[in-house]
Parts: sequence; C-alpha cells; structure tokens
Amino acid sequence: MQILSQDIKYLKGVGPGRAKVLKDSLGIETVGDLLYTFPYRYIDRSKIYTIREMVSVVPEEALQVESAIPYIQLKGQIVDFSDEGKGRKRRLKAVFTDGTGYVELVWFGGLNFVTENYKVGYTYLLLGKPNLYRQMYSFAHPELDKIEPGFSNPNLGLQPIYSIPGKMKKANFTSKILAKLIHNAFDLIPNGQLQETLPDYLIRRNQLKGLYYALRVAHFPTVSEELPQALHRLKFEELFYLQLDILHYRKGRKSKVLGFNFTRIGENFLSFYNDFLPFSLTGAQKRVIKEIRSDLNSGAQMNRLLQGDVGSGKTIVALMCCLIAIDNDFQACIMAPTEILAEQHYATIKSLVKDMPLHVELLTGSVKGKARKQILDDVSTGSVKILIGTHALIEPTVHFHNLGLAVIDEQHRFGVKQRAALWQKNNRAPHILVMTATPIPRTLAMTVYGDLDVSVLDELPPGRKPISTVHYCTNGLEKLIDGIRYQLRLGRQVYVVYPLVKESQKLDLQDAENGAQQFQTWFPDFKVGLVHGQMKSEAKDAAMQAFIHNETQMLISTTVIEVGVNVPNASVMVIMNAERFGLSQLHQLRGRVGRGAEQSYCVLVSRPQLSEDTRRRLQIMCDTNDGFEIAEEDMKLRGPGDLEGTAQSGMPFDLKIANVLRDNDLMEEARHVAEKVLEEDPQENLPQNAVVWQQLQLLKKNKANFSEIS
Ligand code: ADP
Ligand code: MG
Repeated sequence: MQILSQDIKYLKGVGPGRAKVLKDSLGIETVGDLLYTFPYRYIDRSKIYTIREMVSVVPEEALQVESAIPYIQLKGQIVDFSDEGKGRKRRLKAVFTDGTGYVELVWFGGLNFVTENYKVGYTYLLLGKPNLYRQMYSFAHPELDKIEPGFSNPNLGLQPIYSIPGKMKKANFTSKILAKLIHNAFDLIPNGQLQETLPDYLIRRNQLKGLYYALRVAHFPTVSEELPQALHRLKFEELFYLQLDILHYRKGRKSKVLGFNFTRIGENFLSFYNDFLPFSLTGAQKRVIKEIRSDLNSGAQMNRLLQGDVGSGKTIVALMCCLIAIDNDFQACIMAPTEILAEQHYATIKSLVKDMPLHVELLTGSVKGKARKQILDDVSTGSVKILIGTHALIEPTVHFHNLGLAVIDEQHRFGVKQRAALWQKNNRAPHILVMTATPIPRTLAMTVYGDLDVSVLDELPPGRKPISTVHYCTNGLEKLIDGIRYQLRLGRQVYVVYPLVKESQKLDLQDAENGAQQFQTWFPDFKVGLVHGQMKSEAKDAAMQAFIHNETQMLISTTVIEVGVNVPNASVMVIMNAERFGLSQLHQLRGRVGRGAEQSYCVLVSRPQLSEDTRRRLQIMCDTNDGFEIAEEDMKLRGPGDLEGTAQSGMPFDLKIANVLRDNDLMEEARHVAEKVLEEDPQENLPQNAVVWQQLQLLKKNKANFSEIS
C-alpha cells in the first residue's frame, strides 16, 4: 500500500538524521515498518498516586530489586531546583511535592532541556520508577507532562513502552518520541483507511478485529479490555502467514525436488528384520519406520525430523532406514556431532549387522593415513554401504558413489550450512532424516525446522524400569555413598556429574578433580575416571572408552558427558549441585542411565537451602520421567530461555509480535487455518483468497530466503 511503503524520512518529526538512526537501530525504513514496531509492554496511566500512597504501595523493602519496582504516576509541582557537581559529575536535582510528601527528581544528562522546559510552580504529571537515595524517594529522569491546574479525570489508559536500543538513546530517542512518530504515521492514514491483509471470511470465521483497529489499539490502547483482542488479531495474522509460507514452500518442494524412489523392500531389510533384530520393535518404532518408508517412495525428497526422548530407540530406526536405501542400491550415512557418539553408533551398528555381509565404516578426524585413504576409496566405489562419522563426512574429500540417505543425529548441534553441505554430495539430494532428543512442541518443531515433516517416538521400549530419582541434600551424603557402594558391588557403573561453572573454568575443574579424589578414597576397591572440558580430545576419548569398557567403574565429569552416550551397564547418575542445572539439562543427563534392563537411579545432590523454584524443579525430576512434561514445566518455570533463542533463530522470518513459545496454541490454530486455505484453494486462484496470496508474496519479498533447510 502506498502510505505504508512511504519512506520514513518524510514523516512529520523524522527527517534524514532520525531516519538514519531508525534504520540502523530498528531497521525501520518505511511508515509500514514503523507501524509494525510494537510496544513490548504497557504502563497503566489511569492511576495517579499521592506521595503518601506511594510509600505504602512501594515500601522501602520493595525498592531492593530494580526489576520489581513498578512505574508510579504522581501529580504535583516542582518547588526547587539545584545544580550539583562539576563536569561529568554534574547533575540537576529538583524537589517535587503534591502536598502529601516530597520526592526528589534527578537528571544526569540533557540538563539544558530540563532547565528550559521544566519550571517551578507549574503542575506536572510525573511518571517513573522510584528509588531510595539518602532516605529519600527519588526519581531519575522521570517523564513530566505539564497539565493545566483544573485538570481532572485523566483518562490516560495504557501507555505503550517501546524498546529503545542504546544507539537510539544516544541520539536522544525515547519511547515517547517513538510513540509520537507512530501517532504521526496514523495521521497519514485517511479516515482510518488501511487495506485489510486478511480476507473477510477469515476475519469473520475466526472472530478477529479489523487491521486498522488492531494496529491502533496495539499502539494506543484506550480501554485495557480491547488490547488482548487487538494483539490476538495481529499475532494470529503473523502466525497464519508464517505457517502458510512454510506449508506453501513445502508443497512446492514436494512437487519440485525429486527424490530417489526407494520402491524395494529387499534382502537386507528383510533378513535383518526376520533374523537379526535383537528385540521386537515398539509400536512407535514400527509406525515411524512406516512413515519414513512412505516418504522414501513418494518420489519426492524426504526431509523428516525424528523426535524421541532419550532411550526411545532412535538408532535402530536409523539403521533400518539405511537398510532400505541399501536394498535400493544406494549408500547411506549417519552423521553424529562428536567422535564418541560416532564411535558408539559404529560399534552398535556393527554388532547389530555382524552376521550380514554389509560393509560399514567409521570416518572421523582420528582416522588417518592409509586407513583413511582406503575408506575414502571404498566410499567412492560404492563398496562401503553405511558410512558413520562426524562432520568429517561433509569434507570435500568424501565422495560417495551414490548417497541415498543421510541420517543426522542430535540435530541441534548442526547448523543449516552443514546440512546443506550433505545435500550437495550428489546431483540429486539424498533423503534426510534428522534425529533429536530435544523435546519441543510439535507445531513449533514443524515451524523451527522449516519444512521438515515430524515423526515422534512417543513410547519407550518395554521392560524399561522407570529411573528412580531421589533428591539428597549435601548433609545426606552417607546414604549416597551406601547406595553407590551397593550398585558397584552388583557390578554396575556410576556417573557423577558436576556443573560447569561459567565464571570460572578453573573452579569447575577443581570441583570435579576434588570429587574424583574424594570418591576414590570412599571406594578404594573400584577405579574412578575423570573427564572434563579442558582435557585434550584424545585424553577425553580415552577416559570415556575406559568407562565404556568397564575399565573404570565410576566416571566423574563436568558436563562434557555427551548427549547420546550409551553405557547400558551404568545404573546410577549422580548430579552434584543439581540446583545449578536447568530441568531439561537434568533430564538429558538422567537419560544416560536406565538403558539396560536393570533398575537405575538418579540422585540429585543439592545444598539444603533452596529457593521455592529450585525445590520445585528438583521435585518435578523426582515425580516424572516424561521429557515432554519436563520441557513444559521448564518453560513455565524459567520462561522459554535457551529454547526460545534456538527457536527464534530457526524461524523463516522475524516475528514482530507473536512469540514462538508463548503463543504456541495460537500457532497451532493458525496452522490449521493455513492448511485449510491451501486445501480449499490448491490453484491459489479463489477470489476470496486474493489478498492472502498477494500478502504472502509481499512478505516473501521482504524476508531472507530460507529455501534449503537441509
Ligand atoms: P536413543 O533414542 O536415545 O538414541 P537408543 O537408540 O540409543 O536410544 O536406544 C536405547 C537403548 O534401547 C539401546 O540399548 C537399544 O538397544 C534399546 N532398544 C531400542 N529399541 C528397543 C526395543 N524395541 N526393545 C528393546 N530395547 C530397545
Ligand atoms: Mg541416540
């Protein structure tokens, strides 16, 4: 639309200088960009406190935690100014009163503006966060609005607060100035005319507010009840187009990117299934293999994410998919994020197929010289059927004869670029199966991983005894030692993990080193190993291998224990300073045990005094083994945190108002609506959807190309 695409420079109040600042710090170039820059919070300005009331609303104790201090609005007069300090220390102070008490105002900068604009004797509406300075309530850089003496009933409603980056602050931009500019932008839109970006029928069907109304209220809410509906409309739209884009792209890819067609289920798959499968597959494993099989002979390239909690049995699924590729005269590869994991996959798979005539090789950075050359040769002639390795697999020296399937384990450690490199190993893209144990809600997974289809292993193999988790405090160490001794005497092995102390790698190492010594003196009859982040990778490997082969019975480590390491004989996971770990991390660590048929234990050791949240976190661990439940609780307790970072960075385009995690339910809804639109309008030519396709084009033009996710 004409107005929205207008250069911001020409907007009243902007000009070339401010336009540059807006562009550099917030990426705002057009009037439309400005209108779609939303407040991150609102302050309720309908309440005006007296100074006496304020002291009871925000007592001195409440001023200790800066982030918890509320904005307070006062109405009163400045009775005195004083200029203090010299040079850089110069500051301006004022005494402000409303007749019920006094507060101090202070400015450290922009002093000329203050002396020119604020005067003794006028009445001001003051907004700011109080602080305590020398027993006196004080406001630093308050917002002051001059009001007329007769002023009453200020129907001020909610004030939008925009995030102002440092660069903008330096250029004297404030949230209030930005609000003013947005106001000016609204003035440009004649009679509230703004072209709708959603079709009428969707607005009606989903009971949404109109675009103009929603935008206006999102910036300048008058009655707080209207705000949720306005935000809902804008978030819905954003998520709807996000989902539509993803689905649309996927549809395009499915019809365009040809895949190898694996029509055959042959000798390798069948003989493995009938003769060598060491257990019967779980229902979930069977279902997932079916889903993958149907992808593999759909004619399109497969891009599938396999999600499954730790221990759900992803490896065997990967192997069986490789066998399908081999049955169709293709090679397969499995890529793991670390050498240890690659070695483990290799060992596991070698032993699973040991009675089959299958050439399986391992390629990591440690495979050197002649051995490496031989493997590379055998890979390029097609003699190697399954190549397992680290990112060594994507080096240019690796030439496959015909790579048909690439399995990528623990996906979150691989960047999009690395996956793209695998893609390019052939003229035609191999099928891709990405495996992860990170439990994230399904819709979110489908979004973050772009066009990946998602399969879920939601069932653990039978006979698994749930890991029993207990929480001890450091004063309960005797019980811990007894428990460990009992398990060691049964022939089991034990992990002990110490947290990584970010501020001090030395301290962290010390904890683990002291721990190792301590445990060795407690258990003189057993061997105690140690791994930590500062060891060279060969030494780390050696320590891990010693534990894998039961040469050491206890492994003391910092958090370097790799995700995915499989030592079924280990039955105890002790996590020291458990209060310092997040829930998801605790769950991942716990997943290192409970991999054999034996009853396994996880012991969380913490100091006795814990905050309410921490106590709750450890309690959740004791109460459930379910990764999804834990992930949900984690989000509730900590907020989206890390996951949000990962999720946001994986998005096809920046979200301006919706949040990928908090608005997950709405995203689900938006996805259904988007699916329906595509279904009802496969030719993309229904008149009622004209605005949809037009808007999608527009959005696509404005975003970075996320085309090849794998
Ligand atoms: P993850 O999904 O964490 O990678 P793994 O593939 O390492 O899990 O499997 C964990 C353990 O469970 C392995 O020891 C594996 O042999 C075993 N396992 C996998 N599937 C089954 C099954 N259907 N029945 C019994 N044990 C299984
Ligand atoms: Mg695994």
